[in-house]
Amino acid sequence: MGLEEKLPNGIVLASVESLVNWTRKASLWPATFGLACCAIEMMTSGAPRYDLGRFGMEVFRPSPRQADLMIVAGRVTNKMAPVLRQIYDQMAEPRWVLAMGVCASSGGMFNNYAVVQGVDHVVPVDMYLPGCPPRPEMLIDAILKLHQKIQAEPLGPVRAELAAERKAQGEKLELLPSSVKYAKRDKHGEVKEEHVW
Ligand code: SF4
Repeated sequence: MGLEEKLPNGIVLASVESLVNWTRKASLWPATFGLACCAIEMMTSGAPRYDLGRFGMEVFRPSPRQADLMIVAGRVTNKMAPVLRQIYDQMAEPRWVLAMGVCASSGGMFNNYAVVQGVDHVVPVDMYLPGCPPRPEMLIDAILKLHQKIQAEPLGPVRAELAAERKAQGEKLELLPSSVKYAKRDKHGEVKEEHVW
């Protein structure tokens, strides 16, 4: 029996928004980017036992231009922060960031001058994953939650309306999901260009 026998007859209706989000969430490509011990768990997630390939994510892309998901696996030092930011800037839009482990999320136990106290000081984070280190099952769970978030993201005019509504209510755009919160600003901190698509 093939797939054809399982499919119902007739017409399937869907909104463009849900189709676009569905394709986006189902084709996340992570950048090859590991910083510390958490990266070992991230690599394990791609190995056969946990098999990130089930979600089409087993190939970590060697070029940021081919990647749309940055998994920050490990602590970020102040020396590394500009490099991380450059990789993020070179990634394809729309892009997402997952802070893996307490170090990436908040600096963890490294409360010192050398370590960035949370990678959200450097790039906008879409999903935080606690643990030291989080197990591969936890990483996969966070990725699935990120899928849900991507699926629910408004697009186009709906997104622009939502942004305007939140702005009118005095909410800062930084609270918006994904790359919308990364707006280009001038030297006075005013938003020059919002990434609304
Ligand atoms: S959270 Fe734990 S395992 Fe992950 S980078 Fe920090 S110290 Fe290493």
